[in-house]
Amino acid sequence: MSYQLAADMLERRGVTLASIAEIVYILQSAYYSDLTHEECLASVKAVLGKREVQYTLMTGVALDELAEQGVLPQPLQAVMEADESLYGADETLALGITGVYGMIGLTGFGYLDKIKLGIIGKLNDQEGRIHVFLDDLVAGIAAAASARIAHRHEGARVYPHHTGTE
Ligand code: MG
Repeated sequence: MSYQLAADMLERRGVTLASIAEIVYILQSAYYSDLTHEECLASVKAVLGKREVQYTLMTGVALDELAEQGVLPQPLQAVMEADESLYGADETLALGITGVYGMIGLTGFGYLDKIKLGIIGKLNDQEGRIHVFLDDLVAGIAAAASARIAHRHEGARVYPHHTGTE
């Protein structure tokens, strides 16, 4: 399956697809009362099926793993070890994932970056692990999967003078 490569990478770093789907459910069930966990998981898998998302994930995870091994050039190694708040390249990279789904993806990402729901918050308190990129990548994937659900539900709504097919 096309999302499997990304799923394996996330799993290796301690993140299950179910934990990302849970964030999506929390974000979107407030708007769509008939939303199911299955739909959220399917949306996460659809986002992870995109090649550009896989490449983005691959890049961020590689930097986290190289930092854990202590092999990055200085001062990048020190910045990664400190999870320096002014670094910003982690958020910038993750925004590439949400960009596909427009403004809803962007606002969802900003919200998750602030409140650090579920697994996103847990990643930051793991001793000996460096998840500078992963927390933002997971927020990006969750925001994209949420925006995808919003687009699908809103897209199914038909307004006067609009056939819903455009
Ligand atoms: Mg980060």
